[in-house]
Amino acid sequence: MRILISGGTVVTATGTIPADVLVDGEKIAALLARDDDSPERLSGTPAPDAGPGAGLAPADRVIDATGKYVLPGGIDVHTHMEMPFGGTFSVDTFETGTRAAAWGGTTTIVDFAVQAKGTSLLATLDKWHAKADGNCAVDYGFHMIVSDVNEATLKEMDSCIAAGVNSFKMFMAYPGVFYATDGEILLAMQQAARSGAMVMMHAENGIAIDQLVAQALAAGRTDPVEHGLTRPPELEGEATSRAITLARVAHSPLYIVHLSASQALAAVAEARDAGQNVFAETCPQYLYLSLDDLAKPGFEGAKYVASPPLRPKEHQDSLWRGLRTNDLSVVSTDHCPFCFSEQKELGRGDFSRIPNGIPGVEHRMDLLHQGVVSGQLSLPRWVEVCSTTPARMFGLYPRKGVIQAGSDADIVVYDPAAGQTLSVETHHMNVDYSAYEGLSITGRVATVLSRGQVLVDAGEFHGSTGHGRFLHRELSQYVR
Ligand SMILES: [Zn+2]
Repeated sequence: MRILISGGTVVTATGTIPADVLVDGEKIAALLARDDDSPERLSGTPAPDAGPGAGLAPADRVIDATGKYVLPGGIDVHTHMEMPFGGTFSVDTFETGTRAAAWGGTTTIVDFAVQAKGTSLLATLDKWHAKADGNCAVDYGFHMIVSDVNEATLKEMDSCIAAGVNSFKMFMAYPGVFYATDGEILLAMQQAARSGAMVMMHAENGIAIDQLVAQALAAGRTDPVEHGLTRPPELEGEATSRAITLARVAHSPLYIVHLSASQALAAVAEARDAGQNVFAETCPQYLYLSLDDLAKPGFEGAKYVASPPLRPKEHQDSLWRGLRTNDLSVVSTDHCPFCFSEQKELGRGDFSRIPNGIPGVEHRMDLLHQGVVSGQLSLPRWVEVCSTTPARMFGLYPRKGVIQAGSDADIVVYDPAAGQTLSVETHHMNVDYSAYEGLSITGRVATVLSRGQVLVDAGEFHGSTGHGRFLHRELSQYVR
């Protein structure tokens, strides 16, 4: 199958090119410059001497991208499908979650396998393969959450790397569940440094937070907003600094997940200025939602409970600035959907029992495009933070994250002029509310290809469960 995507503007991390894109099977065969108006180009049949793509057979299908952007498919490196949390599971399965991702122009996810205490990393990986393999609509990889640091676990990290999983997430939050001590973190970082692996950190001071939570509950303060008030931004800043120091001592790279607070951003910027291999991502919810949402009347705020919590609005400006200056290199979603009824409701009368997570895998490309519309991000930067850098950061480039000959034909045709309103009525995530209900967006996905297969086109889903393949990732291409 040969597809010609014709008439669009190809957007890459380095700029825009008026060019057609020829897809051959699962790969991009050629970019065809638009100053060539030969009938061969227009029909997808390059003349024998036409340069790139020359001598190829005619296209079986032409997708008209006139007036539209042609982007590398989005890469969301932080999702939680079917994740166990507090006695329940996040409600998107790999099947429903990757389908929703495709609808929103995301053609690769990297999800987290979660080591339970007392179990091995490889057994954990097997378990996550069993959940995902054969069920995904788009390609997928895994990170490993390390929650039980011991000699066996440390040894197994190298086996994970051999199995294509070379990024290990640890938690300075959630004592008694995922929490690791500074000593355990140091050991894991030293191990990672020996193999070139990446340590990812949930940086919040969980020990101090637990005291504030206990104080709030003892004082009868039980509403969802207390979730935000008991996890102050200073405790994210402190933990981020501490993680950076531990990584410096261990000579290990460090990737801060879901950075939400300006204090944490300042710590990352300082480390980067000093030449340390420290990277950070933020998420759309921290750019568009705030503590005000957590403070909505009644129990409504439970919809917005995630950790780190939504911050006061003033943090948003520094996050946008961080995206421009590359102190924030990646935007992921931390997609972790729990239904409002029955799941979020577990925390009625006790905010500390509200399952943590906000649905968003479907909306990342659209929400960040709003940053382009409002002038907070350039067009190439949008593509860079949503696709190209995630690919490089987690060893998928140039197979993913770029439109060039030889890369996987993961392509989004995006209509920058179309309008849409985000709503639970129209989204495809398997969750009973939208954190962005009623939000008007300029721009919309028109067509989505994954390895040359059309998944979404003209408002219809053509993908299939099981199309998505596991991605055996190389080491991060940013670590020297
Ligand atoms: Zn997460």
